[in-house]
Amino acid sequence: MAHVIIDTCTLCGSCVEVCPSECIKEGEDQYFIDPEECIDCGTCIDECPSESIYEEEELPEDKHEFIDKNAKFFN
Ligand code: SF4
Ligand code: SF4
Repeated sequence: MAHVIIDTCTLCGSCVEVCPSECIKEGEDQYFIDPEECIDCGTCIDECPSESIYEEEELPEDKHEFIDKNAKFFN
């Protein structure tokens, strides 16, 4: 289980500043969370101005594709 960033990310970078495991990286169109490194602390959720970060189990049904999209960024 890990936290997941979806496509409403505005690339502001605020989440990166607070992540204790440095597992959030900038992509071309959004930021991504490395599921192997995320410790599920939840700190990043409150930092996101566009509410683009979810616990995996809280993801809306139509956003499940972003579980793979986040993971693939780090492969
Ligand atoms: S839940 Fe915690 S460890 Fe995971 S990405 Fe957010 S701040 Fe980083
Ligand atoms: S805080 Fe939210 S909008 Fe800003 S980079 Fe992180 S996920 Fe994207």
